[in-house]
Amino acid sequence: METTNWISGESVAVRDKGQIVYNPSNLEEEVGVIHYSDRSHVMQAEEAAKQGFRTWSKLTGSTRASYLYQMANVLEKSQSDLATLASREMGKPITEMMGEVMRAVHLLRYYAAEGVRSNGEHIPASDVHVIQYSIRVPLGVVGVITPWNFPVAIPIWKIAPALICGNTVIWKPADNAALTASKMMELFREVNLPEGVLNLVIGKGSVIGDFLLNEVDFQAVSFTGSSTTGAHVASICAKRNIKYQTEMGGKNAAIVLNDADLDKTIPIVLSGAFRSAGQKCTATSRIIVEDGIYESFASKLSVAVSNLKAVQSLDPTAYLGPVASKSQFETVSQYEKLAFNDATLVAEGEIEANTEGYYIKPLVVSGIQTDHPLVQEEIFGPVSVLLRANNFDEAIQLSNETIYGLSAAIFTNNLSKAHRFLEEAQAGMVRVNQETAGVEYQAPFGGMKQSSSHTREQGQAALAFYTTVKTCAIKHTF
Ligand code: NAD
Repeated sequence: METTNWISGESVAVRDKGQIVYNPSNLEEEVGVIHYSDRSHVMQAEEAAKQGFRTWSKLTGSTRASYLYQMANVLEKSQSDLATLASREMGKPITEMMGEVMRAVHLLRYYAAEGVRSNGEHIPASDVHVIQYSIRVPLGVVGVITPWNFPVAIPIWKIAPALICGNTVIWKPADNAALTASKMMELFREVNLPEGVLNLVIGKGSVIGDFLLNEVDFQAVSFTGSSTTGAHVASICAKRNIKYQTEMGGKNAAIVLNDADLDKTIPIVLSGAFRSAGQKCTATSRIIVEDGIYESFASKLSVAVSNLKAVQSLDPTAYLGPVASKSQFETVSQYEKLAFNDATLVAEGEIEANTEGYYIKPLVVSGIQTDHPLVQEEIFGPVSVLLRANNFDEAIQLSNETIYGLSAAIFTNNLSKAHRFLEEAQAGMVRVNQETAGVEYQAPFGGMKQSSSHTREQGQAALAFYTTVKTCAIKHTF
């Protein structure tokens, strides 16, 4: 397939020479061709989205909801095709990708239901005969800028609340997820959304990103991606007084205390660290283990990791596949080199694919100072660092010793320590006896410190982002 933009409900071809996408699980297999937009396509999308807003914002919530329910239905019907394409495009194991498409289906239905829920409150007035209430109103044209690692769910967890609140959208996906994005828009054609409501512009961040942010009359921008790009996006939005949210990187810790049941804990820690080849913003990349069980944890972990095999992403048994792209492969390989030079090997998995692809062996290392790049920088690959803590307090301190604050987990049966962790961990998502990488669409999601602009996505929190509040007062007798 070849990507096209989608503007005003129509597929719009971009006439560049295009770039072939190869399957990261098998570099001999062509998956499709990406065509990159220029500034004129951005302006076309802006015009369409502005026009679209005039009608979409005036529809009732229940009418808008009917479109979202239909969008959910077409994704559900195409679950397998879409998941397979995404898996071939960016290497996520097929079973996880199938789950991700269903997450998007649930998100669409969850936000569709918001179309008929109360969206304001009655506020007592100080004068007689006055009715005072607040309502949430849409903002206008919203920019949605997404990464490649959740190619279906992240776009939908932004698009669904933006649309149900009455906004129109210009969506710019990451290059490594452009085929999936284009396919989703093709599927949504069946829904017949009114013109200009949802527009897709495929392009390189480095070519159209700044133009998009500086020139389009956005009323809000929702970004997910790296902290460096996020800070840049935030600075442009702040200058233009555009409402923004940036959800960014993480360096998430799982703490294992002396009382933890290791046979139950290790598979959960491994899943947090290595599923999706560690390419989740919430992936566990630091494992902090209390002194009393450190040696037995390390030896059990070593056995468990040695059983992990990176295989082709369409293999239904795949636990982890390749990393997503050449640039991911190069970056993560640099960190692995650093690990082999500076650290002690604790555990290593295998590559068991019979094709050439961007495969990286799962790796756990130890024996490095806490200011080492492997302990401080987001690796975004199947590499995790094991740290020893003398006691519970030191474990919490180590967990918080990072510029990031996305997710953190603790494994313990001690209720008081679990509660203290929930209080003291500096992360937006804090979890007990669960992996760091778990997100529920009905709960607010986001980070602290450098992981987020401190807004929240998903759940009810998203509705506050995609609307502004008007306070209305009527004096009915005067
Ligand atoms: P990235 O920052 O490279 O790109 C994200 C998006 O920004 C892409 O669509 C890209 O094209 C676009 N972009 C790049 N330059 C731009 C510019 N100047 N103006 C506008 N847009 C621009 O990130 P990525 O490599 O796609 O994704 C991986 C990162 O995303 C990791 O750091 C990961 O932690 C983070 N992430 C965070 C969350 C979260 O919710 N906190 C979720 C998933 C991924």
